[in-house]
Amino acid sequence: MTATGTPVPAGRVLTWGPKRLPVPYAAPWSGEEVQTGSGLVLRPDGNGIGYRDETPADRDRHGVLWARMTDSPGSGRPNYRTMHIQRQRACMLGLLCQVCGGPADRDAKGWLFVLRQPPPHEDTPGWPEGLLCTKPPVCRPCAHLAAHHCPHLERPVRIRSRKPRVWGVFGGAFDAGLRPGPDAHLPYGHPATPWFLANQAVLELTRCTRESPPAA
Ligand SMILES: [Zn+2]
Repeated sequence: MTATGTPVPAGRVLTWGPKRLPVPYAAPWSGEEVQTGSGLVLRPDGNGIGYRDETPADRDRHGVLWARMTDSPGSGRPNYRTMHIQRQRACMLGLLCQVCGGPADRDAKGWLFVLRQPPPHEDTPGWPEGLLCTKPPVCRPCAHLAAHHCPHLERPVRIRSRKPRVWGVFGGAFDAGLRPGPDAHLPYGHPATPWFLANQAVLELTRCTRESPPAA
């Protein structure tokens, strides 16, 4: 516990700036660059996109091509509003905490996620059951950090999902002229897969319950 009563995360969290603000493991730094655009080519059979120097590591086991990003956490400034492509994916598939990179918290009601409470006009009955989620789970100590520091979590709500299902990816489809289309979700097995470039993994949160925040 710190002097303020906040539990300390199990993993190691990088900090930044004079206030030593915690920087989530999944956050990108300005020294990390997306390296995709000029490397994309039309596949030799004309049916989809690929990299000029593609390796098996560029696709996931469903055959989806992933955007490339350099990996040097701690270089430059952190960007709290987006996620590093490969670290987000690692957290989603491994159910790792997006803040410290350690194992996410799991209890009898499932894995712990901290999400933004939708505004009243978007708060549909049953939310967040079936939510297509791009925010990785968290461990219990980091749930406190996230609720206090994340700018997008004005109204944080703790969710347990007993079955977070690997649903597909988020990114964009390209056309035969290698022009990018709008951002979209793509479920695994979709016919547009050969044309799609992924930059986030998507989990479908099922068997969800809302969890009361711990007493302050
Ligand atoms: Zn954590």
